[in-house]
Amino acid sequence: MKRDRRAKIVATLGPASSSATMIEQLFLAGADVFRLNFSHGTHQDHQQRYQIIRDVEKKWNRPIGIMLDLQGPKLRVGQFVNSAVTLQQGQKFKLDLKTDLGSAERVNFPHADILAALKLGTDLLLDDGKIRLKVQELGKNEVTTTVVIGGKLSDRKGVNIPSLVLPLSALTKKDREDLSFGLDLGVDWVALSFVQRPEDVIEAAQIINGRAGIIVKIEKPSAVDRLDELVKLGQAVMVARGDLGVEMPPESIPAVQKKIIATCRRLGKPVIVATQMLESMIQAPAPTRAEASDVATAVYDGADAVMLSAESASGSYPTEAVAMMNRIIMHTESDPLYRRIMDAQHFELEPTASDAITAAAAQVAHTISAAAIVTYTASGSTTLRAARERPEVPIICLPSDIRTSRRLSLLWGTHCVYHIEADTFGQVIEKASKIALQEGFAKPGQKLVVTAGVPFGTPGSTNTLRIAQV
Ligand code: PEP
Repeated sequence: MKRDRRAKIVATLGPASSSATMIEQLFLAGADVFRLNFSHGTHQDHQQRYQIIRDVEKKWNRPIGIMLDLQGPKLRVGQFVNSAVTLQQGQKFKLDLKTDLGSAERVNFPHADILAALKLGTDLLLDDGKIRLKVQELGKNEVTTTVVIGGKLSDRKGVNIPSLVLPLSALTKKDREDLSFGLDLGVDWVALSFVQRPEDVIEAAQIINGRAGIIVKIEKPSAVDRLDELVKLGQAVMVARGDLGVEMPPESIPAVQKKIIATCRRLGKPVIVATQMLESMIQAPAPTRAEASDVATAVYDGADAVMLSAESASGSYPTEAVAMMNRIIMHTESDPLYRRIMDAQHFELEPTASDAITAAAAQVAHTISAAAIVTYTASGSTTLRAARERPEVPIICLPSDIRTSRRLSLLWGTHCVYHIEADTFGQVIEKASKIALQEGFAKPGQKLVVTAGVPFGTPGSTNTLRIAQV
């Protein structure tokens, strides 16, 4: 089963997409990776969805990536006597540690470290930036603010503080429990929320210990400031435009998105563009023109994947949203301009055998009009470098480990098979030809450009390129 596109689709699962039938439909419509959002749902919900995905994987004999998205240290206000209050512009409003229910004068803010770190004049953004407060007075275990933009504030709404590097780890107690649960299940990717500094990724990596790839979510200005370091530390990156768009002015998001994609492509790390891509499809069977254009922009920029959140998790048209993304990607990639953009954007090679071989593979495939590039890989590192070249032809990845193929389902242009066992290069070529033929990538007589590390069994040893005939 073959997808006719290079960019991948990540679909978030939720109440609208939890049945076996729906998850299979989303997969068939184009979802390559499923996201389990641990900001919502119980462990039991996620376990059931996980098992259904693995059943679909088995039924269709296609590796599927599963991403656990951790909630992270999302700051929230407490609850109100009548569930909500209306704040008026210019009024005073207190945030404190008192546990009593809130009123129009004050509310509980259960984060002592943050209260202590606030400074006079700091802006607090509440409910996705709809309400803006400015710190006016600092007290012991409380701050008094002035309401700059008022509105209705209800129970447990989120608080963003863009100017502050929060004195918090990226992993809360809940995150640690969720992580341990997810790693035991066997998730392929862990997305880290509210990363602020390299130490956050290092801390998570020590716990994860290679059992899953780390996706660094870029959603804080402090993460944008240290982008190169963070991209190098993670195995993939998400442009998490939901919180990023609260923490930074909306007009800055397009440029930041392009910068993140370019940095990831230069460093050879998969990058996902996320949030509000087809937002109106939560309620409508078709997107707006602007949304279709937004997905296409990410594709023209060479992003590895585009993501659906509420559209597939809780909307009324989950399958239609995935199918629409699939069509937008295919249409964009068939535009001759798309290929010209990819050809014009080449990043400097690193002085390694792997870069020499994968860059040569893209060039050879072009010169001889090969049907596909084939990478035989253990860790997937050669396939990542091959995809960094954004070659004209699909990359068929033959991993010796199923975990590699599941992870690489996120990667641009890559079609992974489950896993194969081979003792000699001859066997790799034989299996590559059979797969290319069976899965519709090549016709008899067409050429494949095959890369591998010889002798086999040493990860990172790619040193051979061969042209094979199907
Ligand atoms: C985002 O903020 O864009 C995002 C993907 O994160 P979450 O949905 O977990 O807030």
